[in-house]
This record gives sequence, C-alpha cells and structure tokens, in this order.
Amino acid sequence: MDSSLPPAAADRPEVLLVTGAGRGIGAATALLAGRRGYRVCVNYRADEAAATAVVDAVRAGGGTALAVRADVTRTAEVERLFATVDAELGPLTALVNNAGTLEKQCRLEEIDEDRLNRIWASNITGPFLCAKQAVRRMSTRYGGCGGAIVNVSSAASRLGSPNEYVDYAAAKGAVDSMTRGLALEVAAEGIRVNAVRPGLIHTDIHALGGEPGRVDRVAPGLPMRRGGRPEEVAEAILYLLSPAASYSTGTFLDVSGGR
Ligand code: NAP
Repeated sequence: MDSSLPPAAADRPEVLLVTGAGRGIGAATALLAGRRGYRVCVNYRADEAAATAVVDAVRAGGGTALAVRADVTRTAEVERLFATVDAELGPLTALVNNAGTLEKQCRLEEIDEDRLNRIWASNITGPFLCAKQAVRRMSTRYGGCGGAIVNVSSAASRLGSPNEYVDYAAAKGAVDSMTRGLALEVAAEGIRVNAVRPGLIHTDIHALGGEPGRVDRVAPGLPMRRGGRPEEVAEAILYLLSPAASYSTGTFLDVSGGR
C-alpha cells in the first residue's frame, strides 16, 4: 500500500458537483458521470427545467442526482450549494468548475467596466469560490480523503479571441493559472487539479456572443473540419477525474480538434 494515497479513497462513493450543468458541456458531463456511477449534483443558475431534465435522465439510468440552484459568483449561494451536497449526496470527491459565460463579440476598446466585472465574476470568481469549498472538504489537511477538480478552461486562453472576446479569453487564462497554482498547493494533500481546454463545441454559449451559428461558420477552417460535441469534452473531463489519471495534476487536456 502506498502511504501517500489518501485514506479509504477506494471505499467511498464518488460524489461529483458539476457547476452550470443544466445544458451544454456541464449537462453532458453530469449525464456521463451518472452512467459511470457518480452521485451527481447538477448545479444551475436560472434554467430549472433544463437542470431537472438532466437529473431525470441520470435517475432513469439508475443513477443518483440532485439539482441545486445557485449562482456560483455569490459566496453565500456557493456555501449553500456545497452544504446541500454534503447533506444530500455525502462527502464530495470531485468538482467540475464548468459554469462560465461570454458576451457579445466586439473589440477590446468597446468593453466597459460592468462587462469586465461580469466576465471576471462568472469565469474566475465562480471557479475560485467553488474550489475553495472543495479543498476544505477534500484536503487531508482538513481531515478529508482527497479528490479531483477539473476546471473547464478554453482554447481561447491560448488563442486570445481577437475581435470576439479578449475579456473571456483573458478570464480563461486566469483559470489556467489557477489550475497550475492550486494543483501545486494541494498536490501533497490528496487533491488533483487539472483543466480541459475545449475548442469550438456545439452548445448555446455562442448565441450569447451574438452568433448562434459560429461553430458552423468557423468549422471548415479547423484542422478536423468540424466542431466538437459536448459529449467529447465530457469524456476528457471524466478521464481527468478518474483513477486512470491518478498521476496527472496541474495539466491541460486540449479538446479542440487540433486547433
Ligand atoms: P452553455 O451552454 O452556455 O451553458 C452554461 C451553463 O452554465 C448553463 O447551464 C448556465 O446555467 C450555467 N451558468 C452560467 N453562469 C452561471 C453561474 N454564475 N452560476 C451557475 N451556473 C451558471 O455553455 P457551454 O458551452 O456548455 O460552456 C460550459 C463551459 O465550457 C464554460 O466554462 C465555457 O466557457 C467553456 N467552453 C465552451 C466552449 C464552447 O465552444 N461551447 C469552448 C471552450 C470552453 P443557466 O442555464 O441556469 O443559466
């Protein structure tokens, strides 16, 4: 037995919180995790019907799931979200920081302070607040049994998203830095922290940018000549959460079709 492994890690049920799991990549992740035996909390901000449909689908497959409304940019709501997971699903073993947003495509000189604050809040503050609660539950420093965190960054952190949303790209750059820093901070405390960097994925997020058909417009220029599916990102997330990735931390898995 390797004494550096967290105690009793193999004996406990896997309990996963996915933020922003009512649709898109988060929903695909929650559904796949449910099929793989995770007890899943489906967090959402506004769209209760979508989150309930994800929970119903997990339960229909014989899994355990729970929908919890919480805005992950608000400390009190994040605390309530994690307390609900504690009470309803058991000790947290995995977190996917998926919730994130972008706004209308424009150049940097058109971006104002209010928009910057919204973009930083949803894409940076949310993952920080949730990671904080996860570390307090998982870290052996606080008597936890370890766990895994996957941050959903973006290929935008490498590409910069010129003429579309440099603010969003910069926020995902912050997520990459947090992934590295937190991974090193908790590496000896039983917690692995990694990130996926999706490329162009078919979800509703592109409508927020003002171009619902963005993936189809850009796809012909991509190395694989197509956009990705949320399920393809979910597979990468589940891999990083799983014991198959037990010696990987502070790393990035690009799911971007070669871009
Ligand atoms: P999406 O379809 O727009 O879904 C976003 C989800 O996040 C929704 O369920 C939404 O909940 C939730 N959400 C947003 N802000 C929230 C908040 N403050 N608190 C709680 N939940 C919140 O987006 P997606 O494309 O699946 O994106 C998921 C993640 O992947 C994001 O971090 C995004 O930046 C990243 N990503 C996406 C792509 C892509 O091409 N799609 C590429 C790279 C990275 P409600 O519906 O209840 O509002």
